[in-house]
Amino acid sequence: MVQRQIVARGVKNRRVLLAMRTLPRHLFVPEAYSDYAYDDCPLPIGFGQTISQPFMVAYMLEALFLTGSEHVMEVGTGSGYQTALLSMLADTVVSIERIAPLALRAERLLHELNISNARIMIGDGYNGFSAGAPFDAILVSAAPTFVPPILAGQLNEDGGRMILPMGDFGAQSLVRITRNGDDLMVEDLMEVAFVPMIQGLSDLE
Ligand code: SAH
Repeated sequence: MVQRQIVARGVKNRRVLLAMRTLPRHLFVPEAYSDYAYDDCPLPIGFGQTISQPFMVAYMLEALFLTGSEHVMEVGTGSGYQTALLSMLADTVVSIERIAPLALRAERLLHELNISNARIMIGDGYNGFSAGAPFDAILVSAAPTFVPPILAGQLNEDGGRMILPMGDFGAQSLVRITRNGDDLMVEDLMEVAFVPMIQGLSDLE
């Protein structure tokens, strides 16, 4: 998976590649799909959501320039796969998920994997997590149609960066926002297709 899908498409960051070689992806995929866990595609994880394609996960992680010392927030825990990778690449991780059963499943799995520097919270990612701010990096894995202002406000003022897919389905770009003081620099990275970022908690149980 790493060689053919990720290195071949230009991801070079050694820490990202090592983390992805180390973490077993099949643990994060429903058993019915475990034969496809290392394939070049997103997969259903229940509740109408998907675990992102491995290349997309790698690309987003690389684009955050993590060195290991960062305090990171993730919006959209989903399976917990990217949360686990973030925990290997940063110092501390807070991950927010609006669908409670997904959050609880991911929390259980991270616990089984002895990951102790990542905390999963049930909540609406549009509100971020003010008690944990500022964040050196924010990774959003569902697509809003605008930059959520509260999230931008929770970025470290001194070079905090956020990667997020943005736009309506069929016309989304992956964007990197870098904050310096009140200035937000916006870079368009590539076209993508993510599930929408939905306001409010889900009532799915
Ligand atoms: N990185 C995840 C991808 C999950 S898909 C993985 O590797 O599995 C995106 C997730 O974002 C879904 O689980 C969805 O429920 C969640 N989501 C959508 N809108 C959200 C919001 N406002 N707050 C928190 N999570 C949200």
